[in-house]
Amino acid sequence: MSLAEQMDTVTDASAGTVDRHETTETFESTNPASGAVVGVFPVHDADAVDETVERARAAAETWAALGFDGRRQRLTAYRGYLARRINELADLVHRENGKPHADAILEITLTIDHLAWAATHARRVLGQRRVRAGMLAANHAAYLEYQPLGVVGVIGPWNYPVFTPMGSIAYALAAGNAVVFKPSEYTPAVGAWLAAAWRAAVPDVEDAFQVVTGFGPTGAALCRAGVGKLAFTGSAPTGRKVMAACAETLTPVLMELGGKDAMIVDDDADVVAAADAAVWGAMSNAGQTCIGIERVYATSAVYDRFVAEVTEQVRRLRPGSDDEATYGPMTMASQGGIVRRHIEEAETGGGRVVRGEADPSLFPNENYLVPAVLLDLPEDAAAIREETFGPTLAITKVRDAEEALERVNASSYGLAGAVFSRSKTKAMDLARRMRSGMTSVNSVLTFASVPALPFGGVGESGFGRIHGEDGLKEFTRAKAITRQRVALPVNLMSFSRPPRRPMRWPG
Ligand code: NAD
Repeated sequence: MSLAEQMDTVTDASAGTVDRHETTETFESTNPASGAVVGVFPVHDADAVDETVERARAAAETWAALGFDGRRQRLTAYRGYLARRINELADLVHRENGKPHADAILEITLTIDHLAWAATHARRVLGQRRVRAGMLAANHAAYLEYQPLGVVGVIGPWNYPVFTPMGSIAYALAAGNAVVFKPSEYTPAVGAWLAAAWRAAVPDVEDAFQVVTGFGPTGAALCRAGVGKLAFTGSAPTGRKVMAACAETLTPVLMELGGKDAMIVDDDADVVAAADAAVWGAMSNAGQTCIGIERVYATSAVYDRFVAEVTEQVRRLRPGSDDEATYGPMTMASQGGIVRRHIEEAETGGGRVVRGEADPSLFPNENYLVPAVLLDLPEDAAAIREETFGPTLAITKVRDAEEALERVNASSYGLAGAVFSRSKTKAMDLARRMRSGMTSVNSVLTFASVPALPFGGVGESGFGRIHGEDGLKEFTRAKAITRQRVALPVNLMSFSRPPRRPMRWPG
């Protein structure tokens, strides 16, 4: 029986959550395209979360004791399981999040690649190594290793319900931790599926990866449950609450927050390629991408051509729920309200709005939004300053790339961004000076698909890193050990040191 069928047999409730807590309160997750119920899940309270973390604590010891090889074997089994069931999981993502099936396949494929990288490289990055002891400790051997933290709590969003949380989960597991994951209340079925898949693929340490479901209070309970670290991905306002809750127990946090990412299109850019990338970066996943392109600063030399190309491409986009649709509905109905407000304010605030040609009367419900290009807004417009998280793209004309960079960097957010230029030297210089954790040159979002590269932001976009070597180390603590190899005739770190040999620096 497929996991999806197993979920159906229990009215979708708790298939992945193993509800051992007799939780009575439940909630539904619904398909944003149709309103149909996708699953019914328990609202786990603080006691249930504590019990889950306790079980994970015991599993963490077994998991850590397996060592790098034992863990790599099991992570490979999990990866294989996901790969074999990719269509089933993509269908669930499509139903619960709303994105096209093909986009869900891409999201899961990227996740599988990251799982492989984390499992393969954990020993090299974290395993014990010798470091130079230096002159004063020349008679000692010095060792460095990165040890797991125990249980890592992961709280995730709904927009990439597989790729985003697995960016923490895969790296935390590969580093030797157990994980308790609280998925978004909008995508609990996907979270539960991921945990059920773990139990099926890694039955001998099944409690190393568990899921709890619910709303904000369930997440807050996870913050207070005594986990070794809390990895949060979501909005900046919620991030502040998570940090405050974690502060009570001095639980360290990783913050992957929102963004207002921008693209610079310079004088010498390939304008057609830049427009293509900007439209994909802005509109795919209905614009609900933390590293999506929300703003473009195009130099006056290319502005008119760029706008013409973008508006032409946007005309052809068609939101929908079928296989041919370019993007799906807003996953969270309330986000649609924010997007509409940003577009209305752009219109009333003196900007120009060019809409796509999709016919709203054909949309099944109001969760589908027509794409909109917002032209020449003042820099204090909501669509320039605040995260819109919808199928919009604000384009502003600037004198040159330096003015573009100044405006890009004026944002309180600093997650990612892009530069389009044919000059490698200039593009690399702009990329390095962009105030963001990641920048792609002559493409968008590419850094997320390179497992060796760290992922994370600056400013309101958060701190800490998932992915790559930094992402593995994020879920560990450095452990330093020295071992005396030979005793010296005079031990300087002892009261037995001869009194007439005071330690004095020469000079
Ligand atoms: P959100 O902040 O509303 O919720 C995120 C998670 O936090 C959910 O699981 C929610 O139940 C939980 N939560 C809510 N209140 C809580 C509390 N008081 N204590 C603990 N947990 C609590 O975000 P969202 O709407 O699910 O996701 C969209 C946001 O996520 C956007 O801002 C987007 O940019 C951001 N995001 C960032 C990244 C990144 O890597 N930087 C990736 C994806 C999404």
